[in-house]
Amino acid sequence: MIIVMKQGATPDQVEGVAAHIRELGLTPHVSAGEERVVIGAIGDEAKLRDRPLDMLPGVENVMQVVKPYRLASLAAQPQRTCVTIPPVSPGREPVVFGDARVVVIAGPCSVEDPDMLLAMARCVKEAGGRVLRGGAFKPRTSPYAFQGLGVRGLQYLAEVRRETGLPVMTEVMDTRDVELVAEVADVVQVGARNMQNFNLLKAVGRCGTPVMIKRGLANTIEELLMSAEYVLSEGNPRVLLCERGIRTFEPATRNTLDLSAVPVLRRETHLPIVVDPSHGTGHWDLVAPMARAAVAAGADAVAVEIHPCPERALSDGSQALLPDTFAQLMRQLAAVAAAVGRTV
Ligand code: PEP
Ligand code: MN
Repeated sequence: MIIVMKQGATPDQVEGVAAHIRELGLTPHVSAGEERVVIGAIGDEAKLRDRPLDMLPGVENVMQVVKPYRLASLAAQPQRTCVTIPPVSPGREPVVFGDARVVVIAGPCSVEDPDMLLAMARCVKEAGGRVLRGGAFKPRTSPYAFQGLGVRGLQYLAEVRRETGLPVMTEVMDTRDVELVAEVADVVQVGARNMQNFNLLKAVGRCGTPVMIKRGLANTIEELLMSAEYVLSEGNPRVLLCERGIRTFEPATRNTLDLSAVPVLRRETHLPIVVDPSHGTGHWDLVAPMARAAVAAGADAVAVEIHPCPERALSDGSQALLPDTFAQLMRQLAAVAAAVGRTV
């Protein structure tokens, strides 16, 4: 930890900070420059974390030297990471997460049948969405609920990908399936429930495919960044972070979408940020407002669920947008993006 004193800080104030550091069990190292004094706190920095040293008289700035997430931190890499998905077919453009153009990912919660998937992919493409989502392996709370089509679902995704040229994002739940899923997926999703499945994170870290990590239901932003660290430290730099709502005491929504996570993440990390307002709210009529807000807040991508007939959906129907509503949202997102110097 480095504490930079204000210009003109008095010797008493410098000694006050040094004494405080000693009290907390670290050793102060005072170095007086020409203009100001800088105090290094030598020792276990974790003891100083969450201590408001910047409130001490004469302190101008406090800098943590070591972030627990070394590779994910903006301090370690000041230029923003762009995660690029190469074109699926000739003539199509690559999809870049992290540049000025906001990426919209859309599709059904689950892959249900090939015709529906193809129809939804066409809606996504026509409306200007650039990545198709759809779960083949589904993490369901109940073992009696639809578990996804598994390998057959992956095959349908591969067919629709070929047919439409849209890159696809789909979830992997098991370390044993990583290769299989990565063969089809342009982006492999680690779901909220697996955010701290460290073996799965290591396994997706060893594959070269971009990975989107969804924030766990009860996980902090720092924990999300530490999960990214697992993937990065295994050698896969192509990581997207997804805010998808956290569990709070508020029952009006399925989860509480923590939109402040977007600017916090932008401050902390160079990795692209995705917001999922579908799982974040659980109600279709709240999806568009929160998607607009996500773009306004600085998200690099938005992921939404759509369905041709939400009341018949095999999972998450109540949060699915109809294709027309999705197309309308795309137009709104273009306007919001323009207002914050971006495009969709
Ligand atoms: C999903 O994206 O379909 C999903 C299950 O999301 P989450 O892991 O955020 O609940
Ligand atoms: Mn879902």
